[in-house]
Amino acid sequence: MMVRTGEQYKEGIDQLNTAVWVEGNEVKGKISHHPAFQGVVQSQSELYDLQHIERLKEVMTYTTQKSKERIGMSYLIPTSKPDLERRRKMVQVWARHSAGLMGRSPDYMNTVLAAFASSVHLLKDKPNCFPEHLKQFYEYARSHDLSFTHTFVNPQNNRSQLSFLEEGQTNARVVKRIEEGLVVKGAKLLATQGGITDEIIVFSAPGVQDKSHAFAFSIPSDTTGLKFACRPSFVKDASHFNAPLSSRFEEMDTVVIFDDVLVPWERVFFYDNVKVANDFYIKGNFVPFTLHQIVSRQVIKMEFILGLAQMIVDTINISEYQHVQSKVAEIIKGLESSKALLLSSETNASLDDEGVMIPDKIPLYVAVNQFQETYPRFTEIIQLLGASGMVTLMDETQFHSAIGTELDHYLQGFEVKGRERVQIFTLAFDLCMSAFGSRQSLYERFFFGDPIRLSQIIYQSYSTDSYTSFVKEMLEREKS
Ligand SMILES: Cc1cc2nc3c(=O)[nH]c(=O)nc-3n(C[C@H](O)[C@H](O)[C@H](O)COP(=O)(O)OP(=O)(O)OC[C@H]3O[C@@H](n4cnc5c(N)ncnc54)[C@H](O)[C@@H]3O)c2cc1C
Repeated sequence: MMVRTGEQYKEGIDQLNTAVWVEGNEVKGKISHHPAFQGVVQSQSELYDLQHIERLKEVMTYTTQKSKERIGMSYLIPTSKPDLERRRKMVQVWARHSAGLMGRSPDYMNTVLAAFASSVHLLKDKPNCFPEHLKQFYEYARSHDLSFTHTFVNPQNNRSQLSFLEEGQTNARVVKRIEEGLVVKGAKLLATQGGITDEIIVFSAPGVQDKSHAFAFSIPSDTTGLKFACRPSFVKDASHFNAPLSSRFEEMDTVVIFDDVLVPWERVFFYDNVKVANDFYIKGNFVPFTLHQIVSRQVIKMEFILGLAQMIVDTINISEYQHVQSKVAEIIKGLESSKALLLSSETNASLDDEGVMIPDKIPLYVAVNQFQETYPRFTEIIQLLGASGMVTLMDETQFHSAIGTELDHYLQGFEVKGRERVQIFTLAFDLCMSAFGSRQSLYERFFFGDPIRLSQIIYQSYSTDSYTSFVKEMLEREKS
């Protein structure tokens, strides 16, 4: 098997005996049938099916020199600028299907794995490192089109700078190194889509300081001792009219518990090596590759938000007002900036010593850091434009009831009937005000790290030397 169908993905996760805990109960039976997961699993399976549509074959899949069978494009390690364009187009086909609302569509983690596999040289000849395991695992994953969740960050119990003194208490750590592999105990903060993927990739948190916390591995989701504890589900209603987004795209977040989990050696990429753990983030391709995937998705999400904002404007006919135009223009500016930054990262990409084409990460960092601030503002704009329309909503059954005709009349918008108007505003509500919508804002703010520390990284990695020289030159000129 090379490129999976949606049905094969569903069968794969249903066959696993993954320990997923929701509202006090362990999920029994097929997880794809559980109300908290069935919508997102269906959407994810539709994404896999897109890889099989003939007209999308060249966009969504590729062949390697070794194999004539097609492989998912999300696994492609780029070696040229056209490869980066191919990757962007693939991400955007998948993002369009979920309006960019599935942050963890399979391309996200497949990109991460491709980034890791293209950074294996950083593990070569280093103590407790197994570059060949990582390479073999990448090849195995792409040839089986596996799905992944991941967890990096440690539980949020003490974020003081001295918290490393207490690392041992909760954080997942290696407690034994035995003949069969590593034994891991403790917890990790979050795994979005935990429980509905074949595997989980586990990495030490950035900035790790203790060797028992410095590791990287991947294990099947149903490994003995591994548990996914879910937050409450944000699926309010399975109806696509009443909950158009949360019924389809609610990606569960889970706390991951390792109860003496055995990680077999062949799945260990490195362990007990603090320097490698930190270098792998900083010097490897994780950041540029992942940011390129993220910005490609966020562009599509902004296109969706812009389309929705304009539909609200048209539905209640408010386009003549200057502040309305200026609010919609804010979204246009965000969209155009991210598109330009994405293209700039590709134009200024460069080959590394291993022959891998690395997108320029600064424009991508800027785009993501800006989106952390603008996304909540965009949802605010939708509320400011929609006003009471955001709450004059009706369940679909109301339109089929005895008062349906009256509602269709009294809730009408400009040139649209009540039902259609309510459908548009229900979509806006689900995007901006439902529990699902609020989580989207939190997600865009934090999923790639704290915005404060991200802007610090931009500051620290941006060379301002030529600009200070520019100013000095000007001062020199004043003197003469
Ligand atoms: C919806 C969602 C989904 C996620 N999914 C995943 C996932 O699938 N896998 C995964 O591994 N992670 C995931 N994450 C975790 C994400 O990577 C973290 O939220 C992010 O790195 C921030 O860490 P934190 O939440 O622990 O915040 P904290 O680090 O606890 O920050 C809390 C507050 O303290 C401040 N603060 C803390 N430390 C410092 C410091 N050193 N300097 C300055 N200010 C500081 C922050 O600015 C912030 O205001 C997800 C997060 C969210 C919200």
